[in-house]
Amino acid sequence: MMSGFSRLRAGGLLAGAALFATAACGAGAAETTPDGKPEVVAAFYPLQWLSEQVGGSDAQVSGLTPPGVEPHDVELGIQQVTELKNATLAVYVKGVQPAVDEAVEPDTSFDAATAVATIPAGEHAEEGEEEHGHEELPYDPHLWLDPSRLATVATKLGERLATADPAHAQGYKERATKTAAALGALDQELTKGLTTCTSRTLVTAHEAFGYLADRYKLKQVGITLDPETEPSPARLSEVAKLAKAEGVTTIFTEALVSPKVAEVLASQVGAKTAVLDPLESKPSGDYLSAMRDNLKTLQTALGCTA
Ligand SMILES: [Zn+2]
Repeated sequence: MMSGFSRLRAGGLLAGAALFATAACGAGAAETTPDGKPEVVAAFYPLQWLSEQVGGSDAQVSGLTPPGVEPHDVELGIQQVTELKNATLAVYVKGVQPAVDEAVEPDTSFDAATAVATIPAGEHAEEGEEEHGHEELPYDPHLWLDPSRLATVATKLGERLATADPAHAQGYKERATKTAAALGALDQELTKGLTTCTSRTLVTAHEAFGYLADRYKLKQVGITLDPETEPSPARLSEVAKLAKAEGVTTIFTEALVSPKVAEVLASQVGAKTAVLDPLESKPSGDYLSAMRDNLKTLQTALGCTA
């Protein structure tokens, strides 16, 4: 199990790094930039985008996961652990990256999963298969794929930043309101665009789109929960049977995951493949434009008439 191995390595690295950070920095106060701006460290892309929108020019936002890296795979070096611990605010989703979950400090972190109603983790875990990133997580962590939930996160993030940096409270709250409104508009486009479709079944390479399915009344069938785990032949034939029964025309893959499994499945059921972006890494545009691209892909694949 490759993913299990990489998690172990990340855990070992982190244990050493955490000790070192404690010894080197003591109980250091929250960090600010030389010009006094609060430092916001966002765990991965959608949270970085959101933090930049809400933080504006009042905050210094940095992203922890480099572009093109699956955030679930991220390993933290000493410098990144220190950065997370000393940040004015670390923004993350508990359950996506175990190394981050362990490194953040309760008082200076914001777990976006605490801001919204979560949905249960995928039900299609195979015997012995772990939720990707976390073994006992009771909920699906991919909440950013529902813009209406992300709007709620924006509002809460505005409140947290206003508390952390009271001198600029009004700016944070205004930008949070504006960001929430942009996300609300996107949510309406998705609702409208996905109302009338020939199919509502979403067969995906890994089960990342639960919130999108929940919000827009689609049914997600994930081939695997963990993007690094090969599905068993039994799981593949189960999904193939279901895809045929539901007249599925498209199997969705994603940029950072090998399309091999989806391609095999697609050829078995006579379907095409298309890329649906789970936004775990920076897209070519931004969060809003990537979600609009996802909408177009979904409309074509599901036969929706807007
Ligand atoms: Zn994921």
